[in-house]
Amino acid sequence: MNGKLIILSAPSGSGKTTIVKSLLAKIPGLSFSISATSRSKRENETDGKDYYFISAENFRQKIKQNEFIEWEEVYPERFYGTLKTEVERLWDNGQHVVFDIDVQGGINLKKKFGERALALFISVSDIKILEQRLRNRSTETEESLKARLVKAEEEMSYAKEFDKIIINDKLEQAVEECYRSVKEFI
Ligand code: 5GP
Repeated sequence: MNGKLIILSAPSGSGKTTIVKSLLAKIPGLSFSISATSRSKRENETDGKDYYFISAENFRQKIKQNEFIEWEEVYPERFYGTLKTEVERLWDNGQHVVFDIDVQGGINLKKKFGERALALFISVSDIKILEQRLRNRSTETEESLKARLVKAEEEMSYAKEFDKIIINDKLEQAVEECYRSVKEFI
């Protein structure tokens, strides 16, 4: 049981999901921690691969039964959390575990696991870049896009709590920087 934790947190639209996918493809021995969420599935997503999609009611039940390592109500009525069983399963398979989680969740995991965790904060040099990316993605309504931007500004202020800040203005460079940090850490 000496699996490590690689945490990638970022404001929505910073490109962390893309970076996570590149890291998983490039580094053997890393596995993705599939979170549970009560938000609805997007068209390009698969249940049990991108997330475990469950109802808010089921999510609340799991909170009560202490099944999460960490969880957050990232947006109102939209819960996201890391199941203990998920991480244990991956560690038991001899894997290091990669987390794509929100900023508060990232900070909580880092506090809990200390030296066993590498916490990377993915950011951009200007919040306008985030807005543009979210618009291009077209997965959000105007309302949820605004909510994400308000939250992003607040989240930027927590960057200093992470082991390393990586600026993702150019994707290849950001991937390379993450790759080097992770290789060094594991
Ligand atoms: P999205 O709805 O865009 O997939 O994710 C919204 C936010 O929730 C992202 O910042 C994502 O990283 C975060 N998130 C995903 N899974 C978890 C989790 O298990 N715990 C926490 N705290 N945040 C998560």
